[in-house]
Amino acid sequence: MAKRGVVIVAGGSGRRMGGALPKQFMILDGMPIVARTINTFAEALPGSDIVVVLPEEHIAMWKNLASRFEVAEHRCVAGGKERFHSVKAGIEALGNDVEYIAIHDGVRTLATKRLIIRAMLATEEHKAVIPVIEVMDSYRQVVNAESRIIDRSTLRIVQTPQIFEAALLRRAYEQKYDARFTDDASVVEAMGVNIALVEGERSNIKITTPDDMEYAEWLLHREER
Ligand code: C5P
Repeated sequence: MAKRGVVIVAGGSGRRMGGALPKQFMILDGMPIVARTINTFAEALPGSDIVVVLPEEHIAMWKNLASRFEVAEHRCVAGGKERFHSVKAGIEALGNDVEYIAIHDGVRTLATKRLIIRAMLATEEHKAVIPVIEVMDSYRQVVNAESRIIDRSTLRIVQTPQIFEAALLRRAYEQKYDARFTDDASVVEAMGVNIALVEGERSNIKITTPDDMEYAEWLLHREER
């Protein structure tokens, strides 16, 4: 079986949550957010090489925190200024033997094993795979003083894990940083590669605010029921 690499990016400062501790380290239902994320990937993709990207100043604290929980084997590297630089650092830390690389936002801790496996299976046919969901709201595009409705049937919300052939992803991340690179698919797409879509999960939220923490807790307990 092809060897997989996983890059879990948790290198952000998490300022929107308030408080001293970035959100990726906060305890959700008895476990640090990023620990749950690591364990889900370790279970979904056994034998994969897992690299976690953290703010440099929090690596020692994380190692101490992780030692108090059951956390699957992983390595830690320091993040960079933007998500792009953090992902790049994570990719560079992976072994050269990995054939596919999954990149995942550490704070999307509710992504299920089912979703990870579904996206990985799609790499048998595609070199670049991302999960998406349909939009429920109406959207308007604002241009100067005017705005117009967008046909929402053409829109999708983008999630992670985003999975790519390793050689392609490494080449893509050699490009110069561009502020339009808001996810990994945008970096790979800039090389002229088509991005395949798989069904995401509505519960795969990016925990950002204190309200998200409460919602995530509720979702976890709903699963237990
Ligand atoms: O800030 P944003 O919501 O785009 O963050 C998405 C993910 O990227 C988070 O898991 C965050 O920790 C990570 N990130 C990072 N390095 C940065 C900025 C964000 O690893 N410099």
